Amino acid sequence: MLQGKVAAISGAASKRGIGLASARAMAAQGGRVAILDLDAASAAAAAESLGDGHLGLACDVVDPAACDRAVREVSERLGPIDILVNNAGITQPLKLMDIKLQDYEAVTRVNLRGTLQLSQAVVPAMRERRRGSIICISSVSAQRGGGIFGGPHYSAAKAGILGLTRAMARELGPHGIRVNAVTPGLIETDITGGLLTEPQKAEINKTIPLGRLGRPEDVADICLFLASDLSAYVTGATIDVNGGMHIH
Ligand code: NAP
Repeated sequence: MLQGKVAAISGAASKRGIGLASARAMAAQGGRVAILDLDAASAAAAAESLGDGHLGLACDVVDPAACDRAVREVSERLGPIDILVNNAGITQPLKLMDIKLQDYEAVTRVNLRGTLQLSQAVVPAMRERRRGSIICISSVSAQRGGGIFGGPHYSAAKAGILGLTRAMARELGPHGIRVNAVTPGLIETDITGGLLTEPQKAEINKTIPLGRLGRPEDVADICLFLASDLSAYVTGATIDVNGGMHIH
């Protein structure tokens, strides 16, 4: 499905994360994948775990110059980027009155500003080639006002991503670029790692029609769909991957 295509995925070095699962799904379909993450060595190791012909680079999505540098290096070493997954994110399980300015800024900076900046870095070349698919990872927390691990500032940043995704889809559609969002429910990754006990999980599972927490692969398969031509006429969409936890 992705033969000859180049994908860049932010925050994809985390071993049990959604980003690396998406990288695996895309590599398995012939894509050449660039793993971008904070730590160069972890990014390189994650890329190596995919097999030959992939690339791992340090890229802090908060730093616009780092985004530009990473996109330039990916283009030089793998070819121009066809697919971007804005996956890097952090969360904090804070209540409204406990959110300090630095918490708000940290969460908004990585999730929302990072999504804007990395998109800005890939768009010029995509526009020139009149092709591209940008996938932005939001959260069920944006839709229902909080998940389990995200405070109000996380909900706000992830809701901001939905607005940004739709606005980018509208502006970039005429240039042949599709932009879509994915809203995962509760997925078992390191972002929630170890924080839930088995009895707590069992309680949560009762509220999920499909009866289980999500796996990184559940989200990765939707990213693959949005990256591929199977979704050629889909833009500005938000795809829920939540087992029915939130039906609206
Ligand atoms: P994860 O395993 O913690 O992966 C997130 C990755 O992003 C980590 O490798 C992290 O690096 C990296 N990162 C953090 N700040 C960064 C920055 N400034 N620049 C580049 N990379 C950065 O979490 P995940 O669960 O796979 O999350 C992936 C995305 O899905 C996030 O946007 C998250 O908000 C979203 N999401 C997750 C869930 C869930 O239940 N898991 C639900 C809804 C949405 P370090 O480890 O070095 O910090």
